Amino acid sequence: MLTIKKLHAGVDGKEILKGIDLTVKPGELHAIMGRNGSGKSTLANIITGRDNYEVMEGSVIYNGTDLLDMSPEDRALAGIFMSFQYPVVIPGVNNTYFLRAALNARLNHHGLKEMNAVDFMHLIREKLKLVQMDEKYLTRAVNDGFSGGEKKRNEILQMLTLEPTFSILDETDSGLDIDALKIVAEGVNKFRNNERSFLAITHYQRLLEYMEPDFIHVLIDGKIVKSGDKTLAAELEAKGYSWLE
Ligand code: ADP
Ligand code: MG
Repeated sequence: MLTIKKLHAGVDGKEILKGIDLTVKPGELHAIMGRNGSGKSTLANIITGRDNYEVMEGSVIYNGTDLLDMSPEDRALAGIFMSFQYPVVIPGVNNTYFLRAALNARLNHHGLKEMNAVDFMHLIREKLKLVQMDEKYLTRAVNDGFSGGEKKRNEILQMLTLEPTFSILDETDSGLDIDALKIVAEGVNKFRNNERSFLAITHYQRLLEYMEPDFIHVLIDGKIVKSGDKTLAAELEAKGYSWLE
């Protein structure tokens, strides 16, 4: 589904990713771990097409098409989604309108009928249940005044509503208490199937206990220095990262 080859990329002329190779197949969940500043969010930003991030070398192919040639919105329409490490607050924009507009843009793109407000409310109520969110969050502005954990749940609500094919979760677990972490992980697990893939960036083994990864990759200074199965998380928890340098 996603093939990254020899990716060198960065921001403001500074190289942050120094040769990333990664292949994610349909249905797989890959976890990316690594210290602060190792380039995890940069990788997410490059895949989603964030402004000012530049690719110096390499390619990112998604379902046979070159992602790097596409605008961020076209990538989103094609099924790429990112749950931000630091979710953006959009004052004055109602959460329900935002979600419905985003979903309708996707439906439109696929030549499907847009959802009216009534049908959308039925849909969104089902999605809210999956992350155990109260309906009151629907009438508030996007993330405005939300606590850290509420923002993260709202990001997952967006994912469940938009039904992307490739989802990047950038430290979705940070800011969540233990109960919320379980709920969010269960929401993601119910959403997993053999056609959807995930890149989960995390610092904690705990998330990966609830959300079993197929592979774990360790990023150090812009390079994947080690890849393994889910047992690697426990090893990292015990030994840290220095043995990999
Ligand atoms: P991680 O998510 O692994 O903590 P990041 O990808 O956010 O790391 O950052 C990697 C490095 O790139 C850090 O040293 C960070 O300061 C730097 N960096 C990221 N974004 C920018 C930016 N917009 N301008 C300058 N430096 C940046
Ligand atoms: Mg980060």
